[in-house]
Amino acid sequence: MKPGLLKAGKWLLNALLPRTCAHCGLDLHYLDAAPLCPGCRARLEPLPALHCRACGLPLPDGGAACRDCRGVAPRALALARSAFVFNPELRSVVHAFKYKGRDDLAAPLAAEMAAALDRFPELSSYTFSAAVPLHPAKRRERGFNQAELLSAALAARRNLFHLAGACERVRNTPSQTALSKADRKANMAGAFRASRPELVKGRNILLIDDVATTLATLDELAAEFKRAGAASVAAYTLAREP
Ligand SMILES: [Zn+2]
Ligand SMILES: [Zn+2]
Repeated sequence: MKPGLLKAGKWLLNALLPRTCAHCGLDLHYLDAAPLCPGCRARLEPLPALHCRACGLPLPDGGAACRDCRGVAPRALALARSAFVFNPELRSVVHAFKYKGRDDLAAPLAAEMAAALDRFPELSSYTFSAAVPLHPAKRRERGFNQAELLSAALAARRNLFHLAGACERVRNTPSQTALSKADRKANMAGAFRASRPELVKGRNILLIDDVATTLATLDELAAEFKRAGAASVAAYTLAREP
């Protein structure tokens, strides 16, 4: 089937299928683009005001930096922030977005990220956005790169320049979930290549992804952009895994 026809078919299917809340399954209005019902939407948790100044980790007891960031060797990544904590409601949304082909969720999620960005003036000098790339094999399997969709939609809303194709993933790294922090860092080494250094040279770049966990992936990509001449690299994600 032609891509155009496929797209039209998908759109029609999406328009005809009843919409339900990605978390609790409650029926939504068929025109509602939001992934959650109002009750689940209200339970989303914005990143608390008390968070690590370096990595953005929530700090219930306050302080400037989390234990990991105190005394750690400096990262390539200047700082990281997230719009929300990765709680059960948001987990359901991200799952639908990535694994159930709901690429239509990119727009409402990027709108949430755009609104939350006002809370982080420390990111205002980062005027270029770039997505964490997926390995081509994984991208083919999923049909899209969720980070790319978020970066493009966020850039459109916040007047950033979305750098498409600035970097590629040259190693299809095994899933990070079962690995320790040290192993995650080793697992990511050499995973990225800045294929178009002219896009990043001298620029302040905001790396965009759906969920930040240990920052191993984001830091590896930041290091590659710095090697290619980027002035400074920060990260902004939809969710932060505490
Ligand atoms: Zn719900
Ligand atoms: Zn930290």
